Amino acid sequence: MKEIYISDEVRAPGDAYAFEDILAVLLSEDEEALRVIYDQADRMRSRHVGEGVHLRGLVEFSNNCSAVCSFCGINALNRGARRYRMTPDEIYGSAAFATGLGYRTIVLQSGEDALYGTDDICRIVERLRTRYGVAVTLSLGERTGPEYERLRGAGADRYLMRFETSDSALYSKLKPGSSLEKRLEHIRRIRDAGFQTGSGIMVGIPGQSVESIARDIMLFRQLDLDMVGSGPFVPHPDTGMGQGPAGSLSLVMKVTALTRIVLPGAHIPATTATGSIDPCGQEMALRVGANVLMPNMTPPGYREKYAIYPGKMCVKESPADSDRTARALISRIGRHVAEGYGHGRSYYLREKGKNG
Ligand code: SAH
Repeated sequence: MKEIYISDEVRAPGDAYAFEDILAVLLSEDEEALRVIYDQADRMRSRHVGEGVHLRGLVEFSNNCSAVCSFCGINALNRGARRYRMTPDEIYGSAAFATGLGYRTIVLQSGEDALYGTDDICRIVERLRTRYGVAVTLSLGERTGPEYERLRGAGADRYLMRFETSDSALYSKLKPGSSLEKRLEHIRRIRDAGFQTGSGIMVGIPGQSVESIARDIMLFRQLDLDMVGSGPFVPHPDTGMGQGPAGSLSLVMKVTALTRIVLPGAHIPATTATGSIDPCGQEMALRVGANVLMPNMTPPGYREKYAIYPGKMCVKESPADSDRTARALISRIGRHVAEGYGHGRSYYLREKGKNG
């Protein structure tokens, strides 16, 4: 297999050349051929984002959710899920702990919890920025266009919203009553509000074709994402998609490497789900293109309740443990913890625009 080159003009939808190349990698089982692609991705990671691995402190502040996603263990229909909502002071406590360890980014993630209103989140963001000096990433699910703008105005820097799959029929099964088109519209609004924008997919969803994954990767490129996080689908027994196997690590590796190749400057995490299906998963992802880890800073007592899938790594750990594990992994593979905020590409483009 030859290395893949995608010219800058190839941002148009449905570029046949890139699509065929990407598909060939996804279908390949030839380890030697894949090695060429993995080495290319690792080299591009080194050249474009360097040897530093960014640490983002993840705070899962509420598992209340009004959405009915058929894959997710905290969806509104799961009566078995024990619900919690951290108070603002508890969130600040987690942030204080993370910044004490040197973290420069806090990721606030939750279910779609309307009781945590946009004004509340704005206040929390302002406080995190002014008092702790951190960059703030939000992953709250879908809000309205004006709400994204208010959150951005309050100082939130980044927003994560996976589109999960670009197969619109499969998407509607994952999210009954919603559509891929609407999800992409949300991602566009997030971008328009001025956020560094992150998205991603689940790999190995029942019914997901390899061709659709190739299209997902093309879409990462077309959306010109700042961050792309993908991980294996992991079946949760209390959901409509509780049967069947989890996504495979080998497919996640291919998706990670191809993501780096189509978006050389993107921030790509070695995701928690990848580490949850295989103890070497995150290390392998970091070796084929990933450059971010998101250690879990959610306090014990809550983190096990943020059970979007079973067997999540680090549920029995403390925040200090999760931090130690991440740092040990980074030094084991000869990399270092990145300094600075680790903003995305669109941040620097905007700054350049401002200064002429
Ligand atoms: N409510 C927010 C955050 C969701 S949790 C939102 O809708 O954006 C973040 C991600 O976890 C989801 O986007 C999904 O890709 C992933 N996830 C949820 N359930 C999962 C499962 N069973 N297996 C693997 N990943 C899952």
